[in-house]
Amino acid sequence: MPDNPREWQCDRCMLADYDAACCLCPLRGGPLKQTTCKQWAHLTCSLVITNVKFDRQIVWKPIDISVVQPFLESDRTTCCFCSQKSNGNISNYIMGLCVRCTNTQCMEYFHVTCAHREGVLFELNDNLTSFRLLCKKCQMNKLYRNSSIHHHNPNHQQNDRREGNIELDMMVIARYSPNCYSYARIVEHCDEMMHHVQFVDNTFVDNIHSADILNRDCEKDRPMIGDPIEVIWNKEQLHGKYAGCHKTKMYRIEFDNGLQTSFKREDFYKLNDDIPKRVQTTKIE
Ligand SMILES: [Zn+2]
Ligand SMILES: [Zn+2]
Ligand SMILES: [Zn+2]
Ligand SMILES: [Zn+2]
Repeated sequence: MPDNPREWQCDRCMLADYDAACCLCPLRGGPLKQTTCKQWAHLTCSLVITNVKFDRQIVWKPIDISVVQPFLESDRTTCCFCSQKSNGNISNYIMGLCVRCTNTQCMEYFHVTCAHREGVLFELNDNLTSFRLLCKKCQMNKLYRNSSIHHHNPNHQQNDRREGNIELDMMVIARYSPNCYSYARIVEHCDEMMHHVQFVDNTFVDNIHSADILNRDCEKDRPMIGDPIEVIWNKEQLHGKYAGCHKTKMYRIEFDNGLQTSFKREDFYKLNDDIPKRVQTTKIE
């Protein structure tokens, strides 16, 4: 990848093959790579469909879709978003392959790029070799069950504290400044998108806020997996590759003096939570 990600060109653009189209999905456009069988595919589509490990190699080598080649001929699943069958329609125009929501109870099938556009959650498994895909319905169910999705240090105390509903207008105790906790009120809760990024040195981070991705407006134009992005992380501006996202429940809390801040559930206390001794409330002037 060049130093400036904006100069990055996909294989299709470099070869000026403008009729090239992804053989794994119906989306026309987006960066394409050549496959070993001389077809074209989106990096996102091939990563998700073939479940190959995401590493630097992939960026340079042609995509190997030989594992899924047989299915391209035989699969007749219908995408729940674009309603196009996987392939085999009258014009024999290949419509790619559908993948399925990771929730085994769920029967939603979709094209990778259709899913991406419709807000299906793409999460890399811990071994970085396969993706979990969660359709919107299943994301919501999961949020209601857990009140938030967590990967890091889910210790018991935190789990216990997340039990029970947080209602609007509820009084809570939250950190106002580094050494000061105060009573405050829940004014809003919402899902915030946390983005996953693989940096050039292969570090993997999964808690990037949309606002910290500089070269894309993630709310309107979510990057595809593998897209080059510029990120603010630890106060540094870094280059990396987009690697998916998940949603976290965030709570907007208002202090007595009108100041509002967003908190994760584990960062504030309900009045009947087990409140640690170090948390002393102060009245804010
Ligand atoms: Zn291109
Ligand atoms: Zn595709
Ligand atoms: Zn589709
Ligand atoms: Zn589902």
